[in-house]
Amino acid sequence: MHLTAQAVLVASLIPFTTNAQGLSERYKPAAARIIGTSLQSSRAFDQLGELCDAVGNRISGSERLDQAIAWAVKAMKADGLENVHTEKIRVPYWKRGTEKAWTISPQRHELSILGLGMSVPTPKGGITADVVVVGSFEEMDHLGEAGVKGKIVLYDVPFAGYGATVSYRVFGASRAAKYGAVAALVRSVGSLSFDTPHTGTLVYDDEKLPKIPSAAVSIENSTMMRRMAKRGERIQLHLDMENELIPDLPSANVVGEIVGTEKPNEVVLMGGHLDSWDVGQGAQDDGVGCMITLGAAHIIHQAGLKPKRTIRVVFFTNEENGNHGGTGYRDAHKAELGNFVAALESDSGNGPVKGFTLDFHGEGRNKTITTPPGEKAKAEKSLALLTTLAPLLEPLDAGKMEMGGGGTDIGPTVSEGVPGLGVSHDTTHYWEIHHTKADTFDKIIKLDMQKNIAAVAVMAFVLADMEGTLK
Ligand SMILES: [Zn+2]
Repeated sequence: MHLTAQAVLVASLIPFTTNAQGLSERYKPAAARIIGTSLQSSRAFDQLGELCDAVGNRISGSERLDQAIAWAVKAMKADGLENVHTEKIRVPYWKRGTEKAWTISPQRHELSILGLGMSVPTPKGGITADVVVVGSFEEMDHLGEAGVKGKIVLYDVPFAGYGATVSYRVFGASRAAKYGAVAALVRSVGSLSFDTPHTGTLVYDDEKLPKIPSAAVSIENSTMMRRMAKRGERIQLHLDMENELIPDLPSANVVGEIVGTEKPNEVVLMGGHLDSWDVGQGAQDDGVGCMITLGAAHIIHQAGLKPKRTIRVVFFTNEENGNHGGTGYRDAHKAELGNFVAALESDSGNGPVKGFTLDFHGEGRNKTITTPPGEKAKAEKSLALLTTLAPLLEPLDAGKMEMGGGGTDIGPTVSEGVPGLGVSHDTTHYWEIHHTKADTFDKIIKLDMQKNIAAVAVMAFVLADMEGTLK
């Protein structure tokens, strides 16, 4: 029989549409139960407050992260998870020391700085040098060695979205070292500042370039130096950083499960990262992501729902400065990754939930992804299936499904062929406090967290229970 192209299209759409409608109809009662239960529960919100106040910030390798790991084991058990255990991972310990910076000329100003994670310290006694202010890598390239050698480079780059601006923090030190700079400062990568510098990791280029110390300065101080430079004033600055890097200390991912009733070997993984920067309380980044996923598992359990597949909650270690938790998890579980039907991560704060992003590449949350033409059909089919779940999330205004990054921790797992899902949040206020000492529990809005938990619980439960998969 010969069919026209249109007839083929219609024929292939009919069963899909019927199944799809059936899927959201079928899971409507479960979703309603999950949402109702979550909006009534303060449990995960209260637990996060306890983690923030009793443990506080928890950089990889620190005693506080060890305390957080022990706390998380107890929390998972108390929340009704099974098979709760830790999986050993070795991590670096970047230890902040005394940090001071001030301008000497045109006059003395104490500067608000935070050394960048993994930075080398300054030589004993600090560095005193002239500052050259640039607004982009191109501007520095134009100045070349003649304009940069022996100086401290300040990248005063306005925030144009995290993905667009963060390269100055990550790669700025080595790019400046190439021209002989003695240190690199970067305007805080954040959308707002109350003289609150934003730290974060840097990555040194290969071993050929000298490693120079690098720190973030507050937006207030950075723009001040930009104005001074514009007036033609000579800026001389003293920078003193006494941090140290201790390699390879023991740490762990924390794991717990709701074991599937019919296909226990098939897994929906979900989680966040338990480590944080060493300032503030690591509330939005990413204590809340951990507690959104654990909270979701608890709500499923509390609502009396038993998925056919296993839901596995993982709190990863060392996302911020190495991602050893994410790569270590992938390496340790390589043999079973073929049975994973999805990996979901929440790592962009607690703003109102908007929906989910679908990732087949293993990219971080803030990356824009271009799907290669060869994978387009697969991606479109999975996105179409995901979109059929949107009606279940509409009561939460969380029905937006699109292609996008999943998360740094799940990235290595996703790059092995496991469909990745990122939780989309409104990040308007996230970038204001991200990686600063202002990332504290008081900024967590309870109703937003309850809705985040509900959306993740609905998604995880349906993916773990439905007939097909996103693969
Ligand atoms: Zn994070």
